[in-house]
Amino acid sequence: METVTKKACETHVYRALDEVTAETAAFPIMETLNKAEELSTTCDYCPQAAIYVVSNMQSPPIS
Ligand SMILES: [Zn+2]
Repeated sequence: METVTKKACETHVYRALDEVTAETAAFPIMETLNKAEELSTTCDYCPQAAIYVVSNMQSPPIS
């Protein structure tokens, strides 16, 4: 299955969930970033720091 991973801030996490669901037809998994990742990761929808990673896999590869 294709892996879809989206990073989102508090405001855009529901949009990310919607998009992962639409793109994969699978139930999305939402995980929170740890502090170090949070500081270096930007939301896919705005310039804010991302807080959540939404994907269609149990352990998304975050690098
Ligand atoms: Zn955002």
